[in-house]
Amino acid sequence: MSEVKRNNRILVIDDSADCLRLLTDILESASFRVFLAESGSMGLKVLPKAAPDLILLDIKMPGIDGFEVCRRLKEMQVFKDIPIIFMSSLIEVDDKVAAFRAGGVDYITKPLQREEVLVRVETHIAISQMQESIKKRNARLQNEIIEHKKTEDELKKVHDELETRIKQRTAKLAKANEKLKEEIYQRKKIEADLKRRVLAMDNSSDTIVITDTKGTISYVNPAFEKITGYSSKEALGMNPSVLQSGVHDAQFYKELWETITCGETWSGHLINKRKDGSKYTEEATISPVFSEKGKIVSYVAVKRDISDRLRLESQLKQAQKMETIGTLAGGIAHDFNNALSVIIGFTEIALDDIDPERQLYEDLNEVHLAAKRAADITRQLLAFARKQAIVPKILDLNENVGSMLKMIQRLIGENIDLAWLPGANLWSVKMDPTQIDQILANLCVNARDAIEGVGKVTIESENTSLTENYCDDHIGFVPGEFVQLSVSDNGFGMNKEILENIFEPFFTTKDVDKGTGLGLSTVYGIVKQNNGFINVYSEPDKGTTIKIYLPRHKAETFESHKKSIEEIPISKGETILVVEDDPSILNIMQKILEHLGYTVLTSSVPKKTMDIVKEYTGRIHLLITDVIMPKMNGRDLAEQLQSDYPDLKCIFMSGYSSDAIAHQEILDEKVNFIQKPFSRSELAKIVRKVLDEN
Ligand code: ADP
Ligand code: MG
Repeated sequence: MSEVKRNNRILVIDDSADCLRLLTDILESASFRVFLAESGSMGLKVLPKAAPDLILLDIKMPGIDGFEVCRRLKEMQVFKDIPIIFMSSLIEVDDKVAAFRAGGVDYITKPLQREEVLVRVETHIAISQMQESIKKRNARLQNEIIEHKKTEDELKKVHDELETRIKQRTAKLAKANEKLKEEIYQRKKIEADLKRRVLAMDNSSDTIVITDTKGTISYVNPAFEKITGYSSKEALGMNPSVLQSGVHDAQFYKELWETITCGETWSGHLINKRKDGSKYTEEATISPVFSEKGKIVSYVAVKRDISDRLRLESQLKQAQKMETIGTLAGGIAHDFNNALSVIIGFTEIALDDIDPERQLYEDLNEVHLAAKRAADITRQLLAFARKQAIVPKILDLNENVGSMLKMIQRLIGENIDLAWLPGANLWSVKMDPTQIDQILANLCVNARDAIEGVGKVTIESENTSLTENYCDDHIGFVPGEFVQLSVSDNGFGMNKEILENIFEPFFTTKDVDKGTGLGLSTVYGIVKQNNGFINVYSEPDKGTTIKIYLPRHKAETFESHKKSIEEIPISKGETILVVEDDPSILNIMQKILEHLGYTVLTSSVPKKTMDIVKEYTGRIHLLITDVIMPKMNGRDLAEQLQSDYPDLKCIFMSGYSSDAIAHQEILDEKVNFIQKPFSRSELAKIVRKVLDEN
């Protein structure tokens, strides 16, 4: 609040001279400047000159009274705000009310008191000044607001304009950004795609070569380096013709070139040459690469080394062929067996009954010999077809080979040196010892036949382990531990064509009377039957080595190869029951056994055998039964009879080992077995042996 200044101007309008004087005294003592008027009209007149800050106005005056003065004052714009304090000597409520109604700010009652006058005057001046200053302040504030408002509007306009522009710009940028993003995405996609393609080409096991239109190499992938032996550095700028092996003629390459320059793809097999000169076969596709305008800009060759595949394929084909031939040969051999058994049996009986001095005896002897030869061939066919029944034993190969040396030396003759190099600590194998005899005899005879004049045959044995790597390269081989038996000769060897066929039955390069072509096929069959493998190394004029791998058997006990006794043992009065569904075989067996002094009971129907046994009052010592018969097999029959007669001994016979002899193709080692066709002495020996066993 501003201070009331003592020199503030006060106009006093009063018709009483005393009052005027008193008020002048009071006010001037308080430093107010005092202006005096003796009447209402006088007061209005001096107003402009006095320009009072406050008016003290007497109500009761002649002429214009206080109320009128006040009313007129309020009509004047310049003076209407001057505070008016009314004065009156009459204490009348009506005056007071009228004074305030007329626009006065206060009312003083006469007689005037100094302090009261001063307090009221000062207070109202102060209030007036305050109102004035508030008015001014409001006016200023009002002004400022109007001003501000204008700037604000302008600013808003500029701001809006800017905002619109920014919005437009941002939208444009966003669009550009989108476009850029899309471009980057596409680029990245292309880049990733390219990277993938490069990686694919780099990692491809197929050879990839790109040349220009003249055939000059501009790109090779790592597979090319690996297969050809040329580094990528060497290959670039080179012409693919350096890979030509000379196998294909000029016309071949001309046609290839014509195909691709015409815009077509060439595909076929190419026999090419590596850097080291070795040849390989490729399956190739060579295609032209076109520009967007359809012009040939380069050529791309995608090639695969199929040398290994071709080799494995031919090995597989060979193995399949052998299987087929084996099945065929095995079937024929089985039918031959029964017929030969009958021929041999009856011939032997006839020979016994004929005087050796007679011509017929000699003739029959020839029949016997021929039948035995035929039986040998049949046996070999069965061996090849893996249908030969075998009784495997745990063997020390060194012992078996050692015991055969004398026989082998006789077989190969004196002009040929025989060397035997047994391997140390040889592992054992499990197989039928007669099969070792068959293998060695066949290999040594072949070695002998390959040597003209003098020469050398070497037999070796050795422990060996076949690795994964080795087996990858040799179809049919499996990794593991093997006992290796090899027979080498320094004979005339074999060329490729012969080598491809040697295991086929009846394949021979020898004269009709010298070779049957069954030697190696027999060896093959035996080795396969025993889960082994064969490898042949041979070149013309450089000799031959045949290596046989037999799986190691992990057991310690060996069974020595027992030599059989030569004389034909006869009966001690025993009774034998023969069961065989083929009547002619049954017949011949009865004759042979009766001839040897046995009492013989026969049965051609297994199911009826039990009746025959029950009918017979004496003791039956031995049962000889065929293994494969209709309705009931020999093994079941034997078990049935032995459950009633535990002392009954048993011999099984068979032409081959399939079906009921168990799927394993092999009879139990403990079972007595005789293979058809058999000779009288073979039968006599096994019968005696079994009967004499405890
Ligand atoms: P065969 O001896 O009756 O001819 P093989 O099956 O035993 O029948 O042998 C087949 C062919 O393999 C022989 O005719 C011969 O051409 C060839 N052969 C086998 N062994 C040798 C060898 N050691 N040296 C040279 N050629 C051999
Ligand atoms: Mg032979």
